[in-house]
Amino acid sequence: MRHKILIAEDEADISRLLSEILEAEGYETLRAFSGTEALSLIEREEPDLLLLDLMLPGLSGEELLEKLREEKRCSFPILILSAKSALDDKVALLKNGADDYITKPFEPQEVTARILAALRRAASAGPSRQQPEMLVYRNLKLYPDSRRVLVNDRELSLTAHEYKLLHLFLQSPEKVYSRERLYELVWEGGYYGENNTVNVHVSNLRRKIREADATQEYIQTVYGIGFRLG
Ligand code: CA
Repeated sequence: MRHKILIAEDEADISRLLSEILEAEGYETLRAFSGTEALSLIEREEPDLLLLDLMLPGLSGEELLEKLREEKRCSFPILILSAKSALDDKVALLKNGADDYITKPFEPQEVTARILAALRRAASAGPSRQQPEMLVYRNLKLYPDSRRVLVNDRELSLTAHEYKLLHLFLQSPEKVYSRERLYELVWEGGYYGENNTVNVHVSNLRRKIREADATQEYIQTVYGIGFRLG
C-alpha cells in the first residue's frame, strides 16, 4: 500500500515542490495550507506521516503538535520543516512531539531519506507497541493477536474482511467511517465506485454478531455518511 503523506505548509511553491518530490518517489500526498486544515485532514485521511511547517496560519505548527500530543493522536511520525534560524528555540518542543526535522532550504534527497527513515522506524516500532491485548465493546471482545472475536463468550467465525472491518470500528468507537473510506482501508486500494461490497460485508458481520447477541445492534448506519460502532 502506498504511504500517505500530509504536507502542512502554507508557502505554495514549497508545498508543490514537496508534493512533486514525494509523488515521484511513489508516495501519495495531501496538502494543507493552514494548521486547521491539517488537523481536519488528519481526522479524515489518517496520513502515515506528517511534514509540518512551524510557521502556519490558523493553528501554528507548534500548536498543532501540542494538540496532537495532548490528544494522543500522534500514532504517525511527524517531521518538522523549519528555517534554520528558527530551529534553536524549538529543540525542546521537537524532543517532545516530533520525530525529526528538516531545515529549509532542503535538498530533495534529504527529504526523501528522512521520510523513509521515519516510516521504517514507525513500522518497526509497529502497531504491536500500542496494540492492546483485547478490545471490548459491550458483550463483544476482539483479540488482535489471535484474531479471535467473541460475543457473549461465543466465538464468531468471520472472514478476513469482516474481521478487519470490526477491528477498525473497535479501534475508534466514536468514529464514523464512510463506505469509501472503509473500502480503502479494508480492501486496500481499488476504486470504490458504485459497488456494494462494504454494505454486503457489514450486513454479514451484523448477522453473525446478532446470532450471538440478538438484544442489540453493534454497528449503526449513519444515514448519508456510513457506519460506526454504537
Ligand atoms: Ca510557513
